[in-house]
Amino acid sequence: MSTSHVTSISPQAPSDVVAEAGALDPRAVAALAARAREAQLQWRATGAAGRCSSLAGAARELRDRRQQATELVIREVGKPRGEAAGEVDRGIAILEYYAQAAFASRGDLLPPSIGGLLYTERRPHGLAGLITPWNFPIAIPLWKSAPALVCGNAVLLKPSPDALGTALFLQELLARHLPDGLFAVAPGEAQTGEAVVAEADIVSFTGSVGVGASVTAQATGRGVPVQAEMGGQNAAIVLPDADPARSAAIIAGAAMGYAGQKCTATRRVIVVGENDAFVDALVQRTEALAPGDPYADGVAVGPVISEAARARVLEAVARAQQAGGRTLTGGAALDRDGWFVAPTLVDRVDPSDPIMQEETFGPLAAVCRAGDLDEAVQIANGVRFGLVTSIHGRDLDQILRAVAAVDTGMIKVNGPTAGVDFYAPFGGEKASSFGPREQGMAALDFYTSTHTVSLAPHAG
Ligand code: NAD
Repeated sequence: MSTSHVTSISPQAPSDVVAEAGALDPRAVAALAARAREAQLQWRATGAAGRCSSLAGAARELRDRRQQATELVIREVGKPRGEAAGEVDRGIAILEYYAQAAFASRGDLLPPSIGGLLYTERRPHGLAGLITPWNFPIAIPLWKSAPALVCGNAVLLKPSPDALGTALFLQELLARHLPDGLFAVAPGEAQTGEAVVAEADIVSFTGSVGVGASVTAQATGRGVPVQAEMGGQNAAIVLPDADPARSAAIIAGAAMGYAGQKCTATRRVIVVGENDAFVDALVQRTEALAPGDPYADGVAVGPVISEAARARVLEAVARAQQAGGRTLTGGAALDRDGWFVAPTLVDRVDPSDPIMQEETFGPLAAVCRAGDLDEAVQIANGVRFGLVTSIHGRDLDQILRAVAAVDTGMIKVNGPTAGVDFYAPFGGEKASSFGPREQGMAALDFYTSTHTVSLAPHAG
């Protein structure tokens, strides 16, 4: 059934093979899809209490196995212990939240024009095809699967090969609480992903812009609903009255935490005016985030995911230097086993430079200056992405002007660009997102379609 293998290795210890599986070819994906569809017939007829209890059971089991899941996430993607445990806790909360959503209203009652009843009912689409990246190997599969399942859909998950072990862990855990075959993992790379999109009745993707564009084109070509969450080139705007130490700590954490491998990481720091106190504090806070063993307590920066990812960071730094950028700190790989690179800040770069325009998925941020707030906003908005912006300062008038003018899907004032609330709608603008928002109650709309029923008395 399989043509090739996918392998996941530990980025801090590349000789450690975490998981391996045969890549599913289109026929194998079709067989999984057929089985999931069959299971869905039973699942969609299961009442709200039954669906709630299945997801709540999965939440309880994940809580019981919190330690095991945390160790696996650290091992497989090099996520530092504190964040890995936080992600598992987030996964538990997501399952609990969507378990209760089984009892949410599933439609509206409208005034009938001909007597009787006029109402809407939200029904599951059928089979949800979910394609996920490696960087949040518990949270992203769950924030897509849990709402899909609670609405009555089956799920086919195509995880990143780099997060295969965690996806198989989730499959094993969920299988104990759901009908056989309702939730299935399809290991593989692009061909398997395309086969999943070809089978699904609804598609949700998270990953890079290039792959997202091809997934949305394929899904819209088939006429199935699709949402895609993609990259970001997120800016932090630092106003002149921002507390230098406080803003620097927030921004350094948002740029470098988990080695900058979050779609919401800060990539550009736009300083309004010449604010050396802030830039000095930013360098200091960045240097305090020394990379280390992700298993160790207190470490915030581990390795990047692969050798190729590390090479991309170093190439981006070299290009920025050639274009006149000044490296404030970092810029080199670490001489140790694993794919470690020092958190890097490059200053005095032009807003049009590639380092400002294109996402480099690693611990790298560019610093530039703006004469005033208007210029800062112009620079912030001057990229093809539109995921999240943070604004730092005290003057409420300036802050409100900035909030109104930035064009990203999410805006944080005096907080890090990174970090999301799973119960609020999540998504970006421009090239960062396609289709409706995910997470929160918005996800329940996406994973269902509205049917309008008009019910009139037969006589009189
Ligand atoms: P990626 O785009 O390389 O891969 C994402 C998924 O798509 C993987 O499962 C991959 O195997 C699959 N895939 C590859 N080609 C495919 C094809 N032709 N058809 C269908 N599926 C295919 O992304 P990645 O390297 O795993 O993750 C990093 C990227 O994800 C970054 O760009 C980051 O910004 C983005 N990301 C975005 C969000 C968000 O919510 N906006 C969250 C996390 C990560």
